[in-house]
Amino acid sequence: MGATGAVGQRFIEGLKEHPWFELTSLAASERSAGKKYKDAAKWRLESELPSEIAEITVVNVDPREVDADIVFSALPSDEAKTAEPAFAAAGCAVASNTSSYRMVEDVPLLIPECNHEHLDMIKVQQERRGWENGGYLTTNPNCTTVMFALPLKPLMKFGIKTVHVASMQAVSGAGYEGVPSMAILGNVIPYIGGEEEKVEIEAQKILGTFDGEKIVNADFVVSASCHRVPVMDGHTEAVWVTMRDNPTPAEVRQAMLDFDPKLGDLPTSPKKALIVKDEIDRPQPRLDRNRGNGMSVSVGRIRSGIRFICMGHNTVRGAAGASILNAELLVKKGLL
Ligand code: NAP
Repeated sequence: MGATGAVGQRFIEGLKEHPWFELTSLAASERSAGKKYKDAAKWRLESELPSEIAEITVVNVDPREVDADIVFSALPSDEAKTAEPAFAAAGCAVASNTSSYRMVEDVPLLIPECNHEHLDMIKVQQERRGWENGGYLTTNPNCTTVMFALPLKPLMKFGIKTVHVASMQAVSGAGYEGVPSMAILGNVIPYIGGEEEKVEIEAQKILGTFDGEKIVNADFVVSASCHRVPVMDGHTEAVWVTMRDNPTPAEVRQAMLDFDPKLGDLPTSPKKALIVKDEIDRPQPRLDRNRGNGMSVSVGRIRSGIRFICMGHNTVRGAAGASILNAELLVKKGLL
């Protein structure tokens, strides 16, 4: 859903040769429905659009028109609000990328390396909502949240108290037509509508614990300042963390190096979810965003404070790749 957009195209890229999933339907707005994908969408990725996908006729975002066990959603959030539960009610698993249901109590907000046990909430969700034919909603985080929530996971043992984050976000995060080139070239825009509000609440849910009924949020505070910069892909973030145990930079570095989420062999999971860079001027978006096929988060400049820089690919790890990894986890857990 949203197959013609910036994130939708990344979904196609991640699914077109997927060993476990077969792409059956592509849905977008009524502007695109009825057209062949190649006529409805301007393919803007460097990889080739496979000819068999180019020929698929786009359908409406309507469960009656879509033939699938799982739907991946890259819709605008208003549209997702009605479409996603409609698909779940119709018996589909929904892996959503949008913000509409991320913070809803009975919907898992997943980073498989951080909180795969939150999937147990799906049973609660289906019971509460009366979805008896197997459908449910799962979500992945905002593209800025995931880049710092992942490196925070191995630091939880030190007792995180506060997190400050200043983001330098790529233009692709706003969609193809999102930021006019006249606004961003040679410039920095120190405001991204609605972003700081999301970034300040999501990590606490992701790093919280499931008590059998609901998620109990982790009890640290996040303060964010979000900025758009003239970078094509890759969100870079400066992060400051205070912790109860006051670890040294060497202890933080070691905790990140030792981080092993034991996810097993999922096709989209990178060999290393966290890559620690020791060069003084890394990570950088142009050099590091494609690590782990765009699924690794790179961390560097770990200094006392604790301060560090983290960076990852916003439309892969921050969007489509994250949803696909969630779907692989659903398969592994027998939920699909
Ligand atoms: P985009 O490039 O503007 O694409 C929007 C997609 O939604 C298109 O396929 C569009 O179809 C479809 N659409 C628009 N209005 C619709 C409607 N009324 N009914 C049905 N379909 C409709 O946006 P994007 O950047 O891919 O973002 C998509 C979603 O992912 C947003 O919720 C965004 O917040 C979220 N997200 C984006 C990123 C990122 O890095 N870009 C990261 C994380 C999350 P048509 O082509 O037919 O108009």
